[in-house]
Amino acid sequence: MFQIGQIAALFSLLILAGCAVNPVTGKKELSLIPASQELAIGTKNYGPYQQQQGGRYSVDPDLGRYVNQIGLKLAQYSKRSKLPYQFVVLNNDSPNAWALPGGKIAINRGLLTLLDDEAQLAAVLSHEIIHAAAKHSVNQMTQSILLGIGMQAATVASKNTDYGHLASMGAGLGGNLWSARYGRQQELESDFYGMELMARAGYHPQAAVELQETFVRLSQQGNQAGWLQALFASHPPSTERVAKNKAKAEAIGNVGIRNRSAYQQAIAQITRDSEAYKAQQQAIAAAGKNDIAGALGLIDSAINIQPEEALFHVTKAQLLLSQKQDSRAMAAFSKAAALNPEYYIGHLGLGLIQKKQKRWTQAASNLKKSTQLLPTQIAIYHLGEIELTQGNKKQAIEYFKVAQQHGGSLGEKAQAQLQDLLPPPVNTTTTSNSTQ
Ligand SMILES: [Zn+2]
Repeated sequence: MFQIGQIAALFSLLILAGCAVNPVTGKKELSLIPASQELAIGTKNYGPYQQQQGGRYSVDPDLGRYVNQIGLKLAQYSKRSKLPYQFVVLNNDSPNAWALPGGKIAINRGLLTLLDDEAQLAAVLSHEIIHAAAKHSVNQMTQSILLGIGMQAATVASKNTDYGHLASMGAGLGGNLWSARYGRQQELESDFYGMELMARAGYHPQAAVELQETFVRLSQQGNQAGWLQALFASHPPSTERVAKNKAKAEAIGNVGIRNRSAYQQAIAQITRDSEAYKAQQQAIAAAGKNDIAGALGLIDSAINIQPEEALFHVTKAQLLLSQKQDSRAMAAFSKAAALNPEYYIGHLGLGLIQKKQKRWTQAASNLKKSTQLLPTQIAIYHLGEIELTQGNKKQAIEYFKVAQQHGGSLGEKAQAQLQDLLPPPVNTTTTSNSTQ
């Protein structure tokens, strides 16, 4: 009896905590993440996630404006039209798109080049709008909390202290707070309600069928690159989804706009530059085989085609750095930072080289610029060393404490610095031992 009463009490507590009706599906569900926290998670992680994945595409800013405009038009028809939706194009080759809680959505340049018209773009964006509107990520977080495995992740996500975000960024280098791995049911839900959404906005639902067919075709190609495998782990394509989308398209009715020419015009720049991005991928592959001269030749050919692409200059700088050609690397980082000041790597590279040259003020300024965009362990550690050269022990300790938390060889170096800087802890055990 007592136990049942306890369980009942626990359940009523959980129900009080947040039994809500899902605004998209109309189903009752438990939600332990309040809307305020949902929005905070999206807002806080949006910038760093973009930085980790190439930053925003900047060569043709009109493309970003176009995608955002289509996204906002679709979002008006969402059951949660009041979310602070935002849509950006990431400078990333892999054909992917994602949504953070609260409607913060990104689509990669590499997916845009695979699409044929605006209706297909609307299918991608509607699908992501539903992931956000139907709280797919936060519901997964609720599940993890109930299973007792995600509480830490959930609280870290909402922490908003000065360097609190660092803890969740895994030093910015490939670390993830949580990555979207939706369940099969959630994918089907996003397809289903996404197609209704795009149709309400006037787009032809057949585009969602074609989108799935494209993904199935890609997944069936042999020799998948690593990023493609990762993509399919997070967005599993299936003939089941194709079939379900076909049925849904028929139910909705085969009418709607496609806007092919508007779309082709919007992506004209990335279409023209596709050979340059291919050359960059080849350069990275060559560098992976230690053919640095070959890689440099390839990246120069990419720069010849599109000199305005900051990413090409970043790759060139990294290749030159590996050859210890610091001053040429610095020129390339400088170019990258000037072309796309909103992307962290140019500032980081400049700051690190300037520090080597003992140009402390400039180095600190560039390293700080990089951490404002994406806090990385390497920038934080070196900012600590710069503070030390200036005699600012207190600030140095703050930086080293953060760098230490992220482990690895820099974590160890930070720990060694801290041992030198911090007074030894008062050891009470020793005192009591001495009296024995
Ligand atoms: Zn999805």
